[in-house]
This record gives sequence, C-alpha cells and structure tokens, in this order.
Amino acid sequence: MASREFSLIDNYFKGKGHQRKDVVLGIGDDCALLSVNDNTLLAVTTDTLVSGVHFLADMDPRAIGHKAVAVNLSDLAAMGADQAWLSLALTLPDANDKWLAEFAGAVIEVCDYYGVTLVGGDTTRGPLSVTITAQGKIPAGKQLTRSGAKPGDWLYVTGSLGDAGLGLALLQGREEASSDHREYLINRHCYPTPRLLAGQALRGVASSAIDISDGLASDLGHILKASHCGANLFLDKLPLSQALLGTVSLEAAWHYALGAGDDYELLFTVPEAQKGALDTALAHCGVKHSCVGQLRGGEGISYLNHGQTVDLNVCGYEHNWS
Ligand SMILES: [Mg+2]
Repeated sequence: MASREFSLIDNYFKGKGHQRKDVVLGIGDDCALLSVNDNTLLAVTTDTLVSGVHFLADMDPRAIGHKAVAVNLSDLAAMGADQAWLSLALTLPDANDKWLAEFAGAVIEVCDYYGVTLVGGDTTRGPLSVTITAQGKIPAGKQLTRSGAKPGDWLYVTGSLGDAGLGLALLQGREEASSDHREYLINRHCYPTPRLLAGQALRGVASSAIDISDGLASDLGHILKASHCGANLFLDKLPLSQALLGTVSLEAAWHYALGAGDDYELLFTVPEAQKGALDTALAHCGVKHSCVGQLRGGEGISYLNHGQTVDLNVCGYEHNWS
C-alpha cells in the first residue's frame, strides 16, 4: 500500500467498529492474521488490479490472470504463510470468450503450480478489474510481520530488483532495450514470481518481512515505521540483473530498484545471530538472497555507495485514486 492509501485506510477503517478477540493482526500488514485455533493462524489478503491503473489496458489476458494471482500469493509469502485458497471477483466490460479463456487458463495454471484451490468469487459487468482474496495458514507464533525488526538487524532481499519497473517502461515506450533483455524484463513485469517457499523458510529466522510491491524504498519505509527503526541501505549491494544494467545507467538502475515497484520480491530483516540459519534456510529452496543494508536507530533511509553517503530522492509508486 502506498502512503496515501495508508492514510485513507487509517482515517476511515483501521480500528473502527467491533474488534473481535480472534483477530491477531488487523489492518496494516501484508495479510490479516486470524486465530482459527490454538495452533493455527489464517492469513487473509485482498488485492485489486484495475485496468489502466495496475496493468495496461491492452495487456495480455494471460499476464493479467497470472499477475492477479501472483501479487496476492506474494502477500501470503510476506507473512510466511502456506498458501491454500483463492476467491476471484471479476468485473468485465463484455463477455469475450477468447479473453476469458486465456485469463482463466493463467489463473488456474498459477493455482495448480502452487497447490492453491479457487473456491469462489463473483462476476459482474463494468470496467475491467480483478479482485482476488488469497488465504493461507501459519503455525501460531511463526508469522512474519513488518514490526519485528530491531537496530542492528541485517536487511535482505530475494531475487533482483528493478526489472519489473523497467519492463513496464519498455511496454510504455519510455525506454528501449535489446530484444533478449526486453523479453526478460517484460516477463518480470507481467509474470512476477511469488516467493512462497522463501517466505515459509524465513519463519523463525527473519525478524520482519514485507513483499516489494511499491519499490524497495517505499516498502522498507513500512518496515521502518512499524518497527520504529531507521536503515542504512547499501546501493552497491543492490541485486541488479544483467538485463537492467545492460539497458540503463547505474543511477537509473538504482531508481528502478528503489522506486519503481512491481518486483514482488521479499524484503526482510535478520538478526546477526540468525545469518547462518538464513543461508541454510534459503539454500534449501534455491532462492537467491542479497544483504542490502542494516537497520539502525532513528528513522528514515540513508543511502550509501561503497560507504559514501549518496543524496537520492526516491519516489515510490503511488496508487492512482483519480
Ligand atoms: Mg504486500
């Protein structure tokens, strides 16, 4: 959620109305956590993708279907949840069989891949938008949240950053790339990979976690705010793909990594004592991870390049409310 989305939810919805005792974590993290019994938490998240806001109006229906499921599963990953169920609410301007077949095929394919069952939903007529609710389970006490980070903890990300943002810029004709880089970057935008295995492996290892939907700077800001910390971010340690570095300047690559969003990698913190356990846990699921900074007292993000302070003005993705 971007900052404006946060203030809207804080002002009108957060903490309002009856508060049940079985709500372990309500509004304000990647998922709500609901106590089912003494041993199990239910993790629940809802995300809407709107045509022209979250995806280009002419985007391949397979990509829309894939992305809609993947971004919801990514929120489950950010809590360390085991993915289980999906509901789909689909608003369509007209019933186009070819479009629907491709969209539905992609939804089902991602569900099959991750062992998730589509259990319900709704269809209505109107401007194209896709709303998905994903649910998963977590052993009680093992959840990852945004609020557990402490000064001294190390900051990590999975995968590489900035590819999806550059992929969008290529689709919009704002950048140009060689054909092999172009395909990789656009695929990273259209077909994000939810880091479910990594999220589950981080239970008991990471002190906080979030998925990177709005750019590293913005999403790190959420961890810092929830954990009452500041952070030093090491620009020279950012995992930047060959495709990104082969297409734009290093400084532009930093901006794509920090501000563009849509990467759906995990951003998490690990106490010094857990660094060895982290390498073992993530090696088992074959996910690359990079240490990109360290938490400190105070607030805000300080950017360092090879130990030298860099003055960067990074703007995260702001959801469109027009
Ligand atoms: Mg999230």
